[in-house]
Amino acid sequence: MNSNQSRIAGRHFLQIPGPTPVPERIQRAISQAVLDHRGPAFQRLGEEVLRGIRTIFRTSGPVIIYPASGTGAWEAALVNALSAGDKVLMFETGHFSTLWKNMAMRLGIEVELIESDWRVGADPALIEARLAEDRAHEIKAVCVVHNETSTGCLSPIAEIRAAIDRANHPALFLVDTISSLGSVDYRHEEWGVDVTVSGSQKGLMLPPGLSFTAVSDKALSAAKKSNLPKIFWSWEEMLGPNEKGFFPYTPATTMLYGLNEAIAMLHEEGLENVFARHRRHAEATRDAVDAWGLENLCRDPRYYSPVLTAVLLPASHDADIFRKRTLEAFDISLGAGLTKLAGRVFRIGHLGDTNDLTILGALGGVEMGLRLSGVPLRGSGVQAAMEAMTSAARAA
Ligand SMILES: *Cc1c(COP(=O)(O)O)cnc(C)c1O
Repeated sequence: MNSNQSRIAGRHFLQIPGPTPVPERIQRAISQAVLDHRGPAFQRLGEEVLRGIRTIFRTSGPVIIYPASGTGAWEAALVNALSAGDKVLMFETGHFSTLWKNMAMRLGIEVELIESDWRVGADPALIEARLAEDRAHEIKAVCVVHNETSTGCLSPIAEIRAAIDRANHPALFLVDTISSLGSVDYRHEEWGVDVTVSGSQKGLMLPPGLSFTAVSDKALSAAKKSNLPKIFWSWEEMLGPNEKGFFPYTPATTMLYGLNEAIAMLHEEGLENVFARHRRHAEATRDAVDAWGLENLCRDPRYYSPVLTAVLLPASHDADIFRKRTLEAFDISLGAGLTKLAGRVFRIGHLGDTNDLTILGALGGVEMGLRLSGVPLRGSGVQAAMEAMTSAARAA
């Protein structure tokens, strides 16, 4: 690119695992006029989104909506459900589980961590074994990241629920679905999750700025006894006004128009179809990685993520240099390796409002960038992805 050039033609490929590209329908919805958040028009919108979002979490209970990024909902989950000095069991899936763990510790919560090499999801058997040892029930909550966005590993939430039940343990179950909700099958109520945290800018196809917490009755009871300080994050202060479609403070009114549209779009396509599309794109991407002769960071197929794929580069190549060259040459943003994976992996997001050709364009950009960076490739990943998508279309 000429350094004087101030415009790049065509659409930028935002292929990071969130934020994801915002569909025009949602952008148009958000561009509506700001409205009086104490008035009747807002009340209808408030009631509609508060009811609609439950269908995405698959719960009949309340879902709280914060004008905050996902990190805010993480904090809300901890300060409402737990008390100072409580012990929680967390599974180290990667960068995001580590951030959540650090947050818990800073809030005065004691964390017991099941460590991993950041190449697998949370193992239900390890959680079950630890809970079975805890006969005094000192562990108050189990915290798991559903889709670990730093590694491309998905944790089996229903199986972890079953593991907690087999251990006959009363701990609350807290799950981060910030990068999985709206992309991967998830059932807050059926799977007996007590607190599910999510965000707007990933599978929900919205801009960053909203986050969510679905809460069970058991979590609400625990919140009554919680002694951690909370004002902005207080579930109780939210749930009162929410009953009538209102909020205790100014909600992100225009983002709620967008949320309403996002919920409608997910149902028009059908949640099952949305999930199948994500699985298909993930599979095509993994076929591409195999064809290039590169390694998927997620080392166990049990945990493969439908949302993103993290690709290891040979030790002789810096993934950040590859990403920079690929961005400059082809106008595509790829996810960076985070903390201990910095420079070693790049991440391809295949979530949100994507279709087969979006994915092929992204894989084409990656393949050209890899060649440009001199990374030795065994074959064409794009060719492999085209074959996967053609046979999927034939079977459909
Ligand atoms: C993106 C993400 C977060 C952080 O969310 P923010 O909106 O950046 O605060 C936390 N957990 C997971 C799994 C994520 O993907």
